Amino acid sequence: LFDALADQAALAIERVQLVSDVDRARLAAETDRLRGALLSSISHDLKTPLASIMGSAGTLKDFHENLDDAARLELLSTVIDESERLSRFIANLLDMTRLGSGTMEPNYALHFAGDIVGTALSRATKITAGHVMRVSIPQDLPMVKVDAVLLEQVLFNLIDNAAKYAPENTAIEIRGWADGDSIRLAVIDEGSGIPADDLERIFDSFYRVRKGDFVRAGTGLGLSICRGFVEAMGGRIKAANRTDRTGAIFTVSLPIAVQQPISQEIK
Ligand code: ADP
Repeated sequence: LFDALADQAALAIERVQLVSDVDRARLAAETDRLRGALLSSISHDLKTPLASIMGSAGTLKDFHENLDDAARLELLSTVIDESERLSRFIANLLDMTRLGSGTMEPNYALHFAGDIVGTALSRATKITAGHVMRVSIPQDLPMVKVDAVLLEQVLFNLIDNAAKYAPENTAIEIRGWADGDSIRLAVIDEGSGIPADDLERIFDSFYRVRKGDFVRAGTGLGLSICRGFVEAMGGRIKAANRTDRTGAIFTVSLPIAVQQPISQEIK
């Protein structure tokens, strides 16, 4: 990721033929500053779960004889949860690298978006266990030409956020509909929503609304990956707040590939 960013910065600097030495020095300093900020953010996100894993595993090793089953189980759960968090973070970084290096070539095929919503939901069953899930995708929703893996990741990230930022026992709704020459997929939650000033910025890498809130494990990468993937497939993604009550709405628009579903064409 650093190399991809540094290459991009170096290219940008080279392209500006007329910059003076002073400007050049300033640009180089800015690149260094960005690299530093990125490095410290990434180190923090790697170090925090690692510290928990090492602490819990160390306690288990040193005191296992004095611990009851419940305490041992709790320490083991911490090891597993924090390992999952680490692995999610590393997967996010790899996705970012693919996007940043411009090597991502979507693997297009015709899909019924409802199927991809279904796969994303089944991957998220553990995450959404405490929420009430409602899905309404009409069977006659037009097909879209997308990379199923990328769209599934986008939906997974949005569902993961809805479950993370909206309290337990609230509803998460996934709705699909056709609108002109696109289909829309919305993930709607009953959380506290997003401050108006942050609605665009949340799509920036490493941007988090509640900076000190480490209770909700996150990297600030999920939504920038969503935007990168959706735009790579020729679609758009936007965030809004609900008007009927508090809560966020994330809407993905994707161009319709075939006006009628294949099943109807065959009839
Ligand atoms: P992460 O969740 O790892 O912090 P994201 O890029 O997925 O990173 O989200 C960026 C920020 O946007 C989050 O930290 C959170 O502040 C805000 N956010 C995302 N989804 C929601 C949501 N459904 N409700 C409220 N805030 C949200």
